[in-house]
Amino acid sequence: MSIQTQLKYNPITTEGSSGTVKRIAIFGSTGSIGTQSLEVIAAHLDKFSVEILTAHTNHELLIAQALAFRPKYVVITDEKKYVLIKEALSGTNTKVLAGEQGLIDAASYSGYDIMLAAIVGYAGLKPTLKAIESGKTIALANKETLVVAGDIIMQKAKDYKVKIIPVDSEHSAIFQCLVGEESNPIEKIILTASGGPFLGRKPNFLVNVKRDHALQHPNWTMGAKITIDSATLMNKGLEMIEAKWLFDLEPEQIQVVIHPQSIIHSMVQFQDGSIKAQMGLPDMKLPIHYAFTYPKRVTTNFPRYDFKKPNTLTFEEPDVKTFRNLTLAKEALNKGGNMPCILNAANEIAVFAFLKNRVGFLDITEMVERTMEKVPFIEHPTLDEYYYSDGEARVFAASLIEM
Ligand code: NDP
Ligand code: MG
Repeated sequence: MSIQTQLKYNPITTEGSSGTVKRIAIFGSTGSIGTQSLEVIAAHLDKFSVEILTAHTNHELLIAQALAFRPKYVVITDEKKYVLIKEALSGTNTKVLAGEQGLIDAASYSGYDIMLAAIVGYAGLKPTLKAIESGKTIALANKETLVVAGDIIMQKAKDYKVKIIPVDSEHSAIFQCLVGEESNPIEKIILTASGGPFLGRKPNFLVNVKRDHALQHPNWTMGAKITIDSATLMNKGLEMIEAKWLFDLEPEQIQVVIHPQSIIHSMVQFQDGSIKAQMGLPDMKLPIHYAFTYPKRVTTNFPRYDFKKPNTLTFEEPDVKTFRNLTLAKEALNKGGNMPCILNAANEIAVFAFLKNRVGFLDITEMVERTMEKVPFIEHPTLDEYYYSDGEARVFAASLIEM
């Protein structure tokens, strides 16, 4: 795909921003969420400016984005690409940083208002923590941050009076349902799940599933890791843990229901039995846009859901016997402590091994389960203990691949 096709908007600078413009830092700008967020911004340059862009290895797209949006900083974590970017941006005012430290330094930069946390996986945790400690509003796509260290993140957000606005579509839906309900307790939330490409399939089919088939999600186009997580239902498990922290819920208040059409993005049931749902076409640009404009709603040209067309919305129980990742994630949610962190680390290793055709689809669950049994449980981990547990879980999960 050419860079121009990937950009999907015409290069334009954002110079001339006024004081009412929200200044945005996009961590993970070259990914699925990152590129969609730039489309959202490109449509509203009177409301948003781009101050930071970051990528891991995709220097070509990062350079093209930087030339289009002229941010104050770009960060590339793959240090080998630093010189290439520095040369390409030499005629601009954009400063280039590199490595994990570059992400941390950029996160603490004073000249932005909102961090869009759209790095994938555990790698998003430290820059997001830094942004919270720097008092920034967080538009949170990176659910792994809350799965790994939700207690510490939420406490820090409280200490630094920082707002965390969910971007994950289910959590954005719940967040939207809760507007105006601040003093009304939640009875439960209902997280909807599409069921992924293998809905209705059984283990005798799943055992032979290959990477390319698993990467074809029926409703959403997303990065590789979350697409595999959606196919295994681990994504919904991670989202249960994410919801616990975002909305301060007990595990029994979180229900998952399969809704293959992905039109209802999630629901909240209140204590009088009333249920509020947030609906719309499956398009991540909407929750991204809402996180940027919150508490306002601003006009968009996104396609609208049409009730006049033949529509059937269906709901069913998840098959937790086949998709055991959901059961493992529930176990981690119930157990608490460092167990979700262990689950997440093992899952990241297993998913990347699956993407490299080194393990089978069902091995992902096996690897997560065995790692959860092996790595020592800590009930109240410190941040360093989370880092340590993550490392231990990765080493153990990786050792299962060779066997
Ligand atoms: P992608 O894989 O498409 O993009 C990930 C981004 O993170 C890229 O910019 C990538 O850079 C960067 N990155 C990857 N690894 C590292 C690393 N080790 N250090 C620093 N940066 C890194 O992911 P998505 O956009 O799909 O997902 C991002 C996050 O949002 C995930 O946590 C996901 O769960 C969540 N989310 C995504 C949704 C979606 O629709 N995509 C929906 C809901 C939540 P490079 O391109 O150079 O590799
Ligand atoms: Mg989601």
